Amino acid sequence: MAMFRDQEEAEAPQPLAPSLVMFTHCDRDIYSCSVPQQCPVCGQIPVSSWELEKAPVSIPNPFVNAHREKCSFVVRPTKGRFLGGYDGRSDLHVGITSSKGIVHHFNETGTHKDVTGWEQCVSVPLVPPDQYALIHQWDSYIEEFSRNEKWLPHRYNEKDHNCYTYALMFINSLLHLQEKKTFTKEEFTERFVLPRTRRASKYITLCHEVSQHYFYIVDHPRSDGLA
Ligand SMILES: [Zn+2]
Repeated sequence: MAMFRDQEEAEAPQPLAPSLVMFTHCDRDIYSCSVPQQCPVCGQIPVSSWELEKAPVSIPNPFVNAHREKCSFVVRPTKGRFLGGYDGRSDLHVGITSSKGIVHHFNETGTHKDVTGWEQCVSVPLVPPDQYALIHQWDSYIEEFSRNEKWLPHRYNEKDHNCYTYALMFINSLLHLQEKKTFTKEEFTERFVLPRTRRASKYITLCHEVSQHYFYIVDHPRSDGLA
């Protein structure tokens, strides 16, 4: 493992995503890479006059490096990366990280353990950090689970026996062991995946607009009805 980490760090450092800030002025939400000296709408008000509720906030980056996430469900585009290519419709691929950030996943060529390639992911942590016993067993569970003949290449089916089947069946097998309620695909997606992928989609749109036009300006009508 140490060998892989060293290799990864030797690569040219690549920022995961541009930094994004949002501030409010002229009744609009204005997104940008950094806070400008003047409002791009009125062009006059200097930054020093920010009122507290209009002060810039940074927009959190929804993407994480899956190889630094332990015991998580992770999602990435099947091809390419979320930022700078993903159009919101292309196929997604999912996997489960080990306690050391190795991504276990299943596709038409069987099961895999990746130490690179999942650097920009949406992640759903599956285990609270204080569940030491489960974290300790995690890697042997996923290894054993992956050896099942269910995950032989010829069993793969794009529609109903795919990467998601593998990941969710693993999650459900652990829930079952703990005598907890398991999830259907719809339940898991709705509850854990969609809120995160929606946030990621919004972030991708913002990054795209800001990189094209420097600012992304959204009308922000005042809720109190005052001008
Ligand atoms: Zn303004």
